[in-house]
Amino acid sequence: IKKIGVLTSGGDAPGMNAAIRAVVRACAYYHTECVGFYRGYQGMIEGDYIALNARSVRNILPYGGTILQSARSKEFKTQEGRAKAAEKLKEAEVDALVLIGGDGTFRGGVALSKEHDIPCIGVPGTIDNDISGTNFTIGYDTALNTVVEAIDKIRDTASSHNRLFFVEVMGRDAGFIALNSGIGAGAEEILIPEEDLGLERLLDSLERSRRSGKTSSIVVVSEGDKIGKNVFELAEYVKENLPYYDAKVTVLGHIQRGGKPTCFDRVLASRLCVKAVELLMDGKRDVMVGIVNNDITYTSISEALKTEHTVNKDLLRISDILST
Ligand code: ATP
Repeated sequence: IKKIGVLTSGGDAPGMNAAIRAVVRACAYYHTECVGFYRGYQGMIEGDYIALNARSVRNILPYGGTILQSARSKEFKTQEGRAKAAEKLKEAEVDALVLIGGDGTFRGGVALSKEHDIPCIGVPGTIDNDISGTNFTIGYDTALNTVVEAIDKIRDTASSHNRLFFVEVMGRDAGFIALNSGIGAGAEEILIPEEDLGLERLLDSLERSRRSGKTSSIVVVSEGDKIGKNVFELAEYVKENLPYYDAKVTVLGHIQRGGKPTCFDRVLASRLCVKAVELLMDGKRDVMVGIVNNDITYTSISEALKTEHTVNKDLLRISDILST
């Protein structure tokens, strides 16, 4: 392998820059050329790329976002789009790719590899942590810390005014952020897409909280919670049924994607991406690198895509016990 291409695709996540840096530096270390494609697959289709050497990635380690930018490319989902991308890869003499992103990004890689015989290695980069084959994805730890810090602040005002706050966090299909930040911030209730706890239970729990003398309550809600109401409807529902509660809503939104990556995410990105380059050197292809029990491992991308991600539902029990 003489030249490796790298891109970031799908939703951005803190630590993507640390990942790009690690790919570029590992390539330099192993005397392999490296180019970065801008805006994910869209830049590949347009032939928009830059040659990267060890010095090109100086000082990017501590920054959120991605210097290569990210995009969602509709065109790449078509065979014609991928054929254009393959043509540009040929022109740029790129032999293999490191794809930093989520499951959509990996689906794109599998298609490209099958249709145009281009070895791809996937690196899980998404704040949602919703990828099987790895315990952690790049950006997840930073997002958790951002959410916990925000909820701590909300708690200050909630307890000063005896209020109930519904805090919506990211995770359309996955409750990882809600579950872990909820426990980390001591939420009274956590609503996730994987488990429908029902509205009655929510009311009971809030009623119990009030009777036990709590001065504030925080309910963390995943964007995609299963209870069938959005966070504003939930707050209205609770106000109607428990009128003594002054229920407020905070949607944390995109602040969860930004900010300096935590040390954990920087180290994770560094380890995963050095491994990604080494796997390509060893002739491996179409696998995703991951961290399992603190070991850097890899699984076939197709396998990783087939398996459902699973949250640890025992965390709901822990939350229940601790919000007593
Ligand atoms: P996140 O989890 O943060 O949303 P993601 O990688 O899953 O990240 P997507 O938007 O789903 O984000 O995918 C990124 C890009 O990968 C898409 O814009 C598209 O170009 C490509 N892609 C997604 N699914 C496919 C597919 N089935 N076939 C080919 N390309 C795909």
